[in-house]
Amino acid sequence: MKDKKAKLYVITGPSGVGKGTVLSKFFEKNKGNIIYSVSCTTRKPRLGEKNGINYFFISKEEFKKDIENNEFLEWAKYSDNYYGTRKDFVLNSLENGKSVILEIETQGAKKIMEEYKNCVSIFIMPPNMDELENRLRGRKTETEEMILKRLDIVKSELEESKNYKYVVINDKVDKAFEQLQSIYEKERAI
Ligand code: ADP
Ligand code: 5GP
Repeated sequence: MKDKKAKLYVITGPSGVGKGTVLSKFFEKNKGNIIYSVSCTTRKPRLGEKNGINYFFISKEEFKKDIENNEFLEWAKYSDNYYGTRKDFVLNSLENGKSVILEIETQGAKKIMEEYKNCVSIFIMPPNMDELENRLRGRKTETEEMILKRLDIVKSELEESKNYKYVVINDKVDKAFEQLQSIYEKERAI
């Protein structure tokens, strides 16, 4: 089935909730139909992350230059680093009839939701706080200081969930994936 029209999807949720995990299943199934927007970031790559695939890893100087040159559709400072969505890539994809997914944090998502009222906003929720902390720690990609910084903002992030069109609770990955898939199938038909 082809999408009735190209749409902008915004997926957010606290760090460690499982956005990447659920999305990688989603893209296994939907590759070719919908595009993942690879963001720019000033944070250092984690083990196994590849430039141009997970992120475009750039310096703070480059990032600031890109802000001045209006290269970002949105950007935000999150836990001491900058993250931004490449404007040309997203707008060109939509113009060419391809739907795009942004996987971004809540400040950037808020800006997108204000500017693109028709975007499909999806908030991924943890089943509870203990499980979120276990997942974030279990991933073993952040230092203790980084984990605490990320946990510190979870409450304010969760408060944003009421502003989203859809909320998906990621208790079991398969179930969360199926919910995301059914949202996508519903949205691509309208
Ligand atoms: P995010 O992209 O939201 O920061 P990740 O996808 O990196 O989160 O997931 C964080 C950790 O939690 C990973 O180790 C992942 O394997 C694990 N995880 C994700 N979803 C689930 C789930 N439903 N149940 C248990 N563990 C999960
Ligand atoms: P991480 O360092 O765990 O990869 O990402 C930290 C947070 O930044 C996550 O919530 C992630 O979704 C978000 N993020 C990734 N890319 C972007 C982006 O381009 N813009 C914004 N605002 N947030 C982003």
